[in-house]
Parts: sequence; C-alpha cells; structure tokens
Amino acid sequence: MTVMAFDEALGRFEPVLGLETHVELGTASKMFCGCKTTFGAAPNTQVCPTCLAFPGALPVANEAAIESTIRIGLALNCSIAEWCRFARKNYFYPDMPKNYQISQYDEPLCFDGYLDVEVDGETVRVEIERVHLEEDTGKSTHVGGATGRIQGADYSIVDYNRAGIPLVEIVTKPIPGTDRMAPEVAKAYATELREIMRALGVSDVRMEEGSMRCDVNVSLMPRGSSEWGTRTETKNVNSLRSVERAVRSEIERQAHILAEGGKIIQETRHFHEDTGTTTPGRSKEEAQDYRYFPEPDLVPIAPDAAWVARLKAELPELPLVKRKRLQAEWGVSDLDMQAMHNADAIDLVEATVAAGAPAADARKWWMGELARRANESATTLADLPITPADIARVTELVASGSLNDKLARQVLEGVLAGEGTPDAVVAARGLEIVNDEGELSAIIDEVLAGNADVADKIRSGKIAAVGALVGGVMKASRGKADAGRARQLILEKLGVSE
Ligand code: ADP
Ligand code: MG
Ligand code: ZN
Repeated sequence: MTVMAFDEALGRFEPVLGLETHVELGTASKMFCGCKTTFGAAPNTQVCPTCLAFPGALPVANEAAIESTIRIGLALNCSIAEWCRFARKNYFYPDMPKNYQISQYDEPLCFDGYLDVEVDGETVRVEIERVHLEEDTGKSTHVGGATGRIQGADYSIVDYNRAGIPLVEIVTKPIPGTDRMAPEVAKAYATELREIMRALGVSDVRMEEGSMRCDVNVSLMPRGSSEWGTRTETKNVNSLRSVERAVRSEIERQAHILAEGGKIIQETRHFHEDTGTTTPGRSKEEAQDYRYFPEPDLVPIAPDAAWVARLKAELPELPLVKRKRLQAEWGVSDLDMQAMHNADAIDLVEATVAAGAPAADARKWWMGELARRANESATTLADLPITPADIARVTELVASGSLNDKLARQVLEGVLAGEGTPDAVVAARGLEIVNDEGELSAIIDEVLAGNADVADKIRSGKIAAVGALVGGVMKASRGKADAGRARQLILEKLGVSE
C-alpha cells in the first residue's frame, strides 16, 4: 500500500478526529438480568433466559450501571438527562441473541461534556457529544481458518457470557485543530479516559481483555478548507499505542489517496498490530437503517436530581487534578511527571511515598531499576511482583546506612525473584553493609598487603590513587563495604591526611 509520509501529509491536509470508546462496566451482574459478569468463566455458564432472549423474558435495568454511567458523565463535565429512554437498535448478528441491542439513541443519559487532556505540556479540550448505556454482545470464535476471521473458517462457536454486560459508550464531537499532534491527542484522550474510569472504580479498563476499546474516526481536509472530509472508522483498537498508530496510519493512507485525486470511502476499517496499518471492513456509504425505536420493555430513566447532586459531590479527585497536585508536592519537572505518567508509575510512586519513602527515592527506584526490569521481562511496573511497601523498606535501609545502592539493587532482584520481603532477602543473601570496623579493617589490611606499590604511591602524596584501593575493598567485600568509611580507614592506616 502506498502512503504519504506523515510530515508531508500534515503539510497538505488538516486531520479531524472523532473517538468512540466502549467501556465495560465492572458491575457484579449484567445490565438487564442477574447473571454474573466474571471474566474468563467457562463458555455459556453465565447466561439466563433474559440474556439469551428466550420468548417472554423481560429485562430490568441495573441501577448500579446507571449510577456508574452518571458518574462517568459527571466526571466528563456532561449534563445529565432528567428523563431518557433506552432504544432498540435492530440488526442481526449471531452473537447477539435478541437480534436487537438495547442501547440509547436520541436520548442519551449524559451529553455535552468535555475532557481536558495534556499533550506536551499543552491542554487540549476534547468535547464530548454523549455518554450512553447499552449492552455488550456475546463473543464469536471462528475455528479452522488461518486468520481467525469468519472467511475460511470451518465453523464458528459463540459464548454468550458477555452478552448483556453493561457497556458505556463515550462519543466525542469531531476534534479539529490538532494538526501534527493528532496521533498523540488521540492517545492522550484514551489514556485520560482510562484513568478516569480507574479513579471512578467503574471498570477495570483492561484494553487487552477488551473491557475498553476505541473506534478511531479520522478524516482529512485540504489546508485552508473549512469543509470536513469523509471519515473512516477504525474499529476496536485495543491498546493505547495502537490508538496513536491507527490515527497516524490513516492520515498517511488518506493523504495519499486524496493527493492522487481519489475519494475516501466512508467505511469501517480494521487495525493490524503487526503492520501498524488498517484494512477495509464494511462500507458505511449507505447509512445502515437500525430502525431505532424506544424500548417498550423498559421504563424510562429519570434520575432524581438529589441523587445526581450527591454523586457529583462524591466524585473522587480526578486524575489530571491529582497529577498536578502530586507534581507540586513532589517537586518534579513537567518532563519527569510526564515520564512517570507514560510509565504508569504515578500511583506506584504515590503508594511508595504513602508507605514512608521520600518522593525522590520512590521515583528513582520505580523509574530506574524497576522500569528496566519491567522492560526486560516485557511486563508493566504494576505487574512486577514487588510492592510499594517493599520499595519503601529498601529506601529506609539505604537511608539508615544498612544498604548502599548497589546492595539495594540486589535486594530488589531478590524480592522480584520471589525470595521474600526485603528484610528476608538481606538476611538470606547476607547483604548488609559491613559496618563492623574489625571486619572492614581486616579486609583493608588484606588489600593493602596485595597492593604495596599503590600504598607507597599514596604515602608519597598521590592521594588520588586511593580510589583503586577502595575499589579493591569493595570487590573483596562483594560490594558490602561502606566506600566512604573504607577510604578514611585506608588513609588513616597509611598515615596520610587529605
Ligand atoms: P457512527 O454510528 O457511524 O459510529 P457516531 O455519530 O456514533 O457515528 O460517531 C462518529 C464519530 O466520528 C464521532 O466521534 C464524531 O464526532 C466523529 N466524526 C463525525 N464526523 C467526522 C469527520 N468528518 N471526521 C472525523 N470524525 C468525525
Ligand atoms: Mg458509533
Ligand atoms: Zn442473564
């Protein structure tokens, strides 16, 4: 596929973005029945007549899901509908047992909000069109083909455990004016949204498990034009990095077509992680007629104003506000804060500080040694088998002089290897700094005896040579000596003063 280089594309065209994000709520039961929602249960074990759409089964709306949706709307600065209804969206899909989805159409529960996101120290306001509540579909698996797609498969199987799990859809208004930053803005928006969901505690927002997925709309218009171009919608992008890459690749692809005089077809597209590009899905040129109509089996939702006011008053501190506060408390630069944010380290550093560590030390360990180890084992900081309390204990041991940085790294290694708490690792590996003067003195004597030439140089005034002897002491003690004290003792023994 021929594309236009990103910089050239941006020189000629302006992108407009639109993001539709689905978030599976973490309620204990489904949206319209009492079935459990546990992820990974054996197929078709969390189903009932309602979510399997047996004739005569009736839905009842899940209050906790409505509450979560209102809280999301409030966190996104939305107005909350005083009265709204569910709607039937009619279409056939094998993993959707009713042949219609209960969703919301022209009466969303939350509307007209915004979310501020930060990109490179600048704030970009993303306008939110609507936040509505619907139900998820089941999950089809196509067996036998090479691609896992339905084409070429021998047969398909369906798991309805997911059918009926409450799903919130958050739709932005078109986002113009992001220019070169379009890919980063899209990623920053999805990141901020994910953090808001976490702060609200309404979803586990695991993109790799599909509990948060983004549809990425992109269009281009020639520079100077005010008429928006035709958009494509890249479906179900399931990582933050892929959101960024999908925007970038669509800009490059569309720019090439437009520059050649071609037309963009309004269609859905699929993003491929391996190539970082998209391929066509289904055409949307003729808008599908979903024959929406108000869901007759459910009563309207009319959230009590006092309830909404209470939910608003009880919202937690939101992530951007919290990051600003922590940055001031910790006294770190924008750049360092951004790095911690990108590494998903902020909560961990915060917890480490809460466990008693100075902020600078907490940041140093998480962003240094631990980031390196997480990277090496292709995992995230949060998934490393070590806790903020462990890190706080290690910083305490360093501060009290029991460990130096080098030993501390070995302690962390031991904890990560499952050898127990930092204290247990220190004891088992014998990692404490040699504070015993007698022991240190003996090691120094040994080193002096083995390096008589260096000792003579120092006696004759070449004090700089002491570094080599300190190195020898550190080596002989396997890193456990206190280097500063060793230096003092060596000079004393040689009768030299600085
Ligand atoms: P659909 O049902 O086709 O997915 P929606 O209205 O639910 O349509 O969502 C479309 C998304 O695309 C919204 O986020 C909207 O703001 C965005 N959008 C609309 N027009 C454009 C455009 N020309 N370029 C980019 N994004 C757009
Ligand atoms: Mg849509
Ligand atoms: Zn059910």
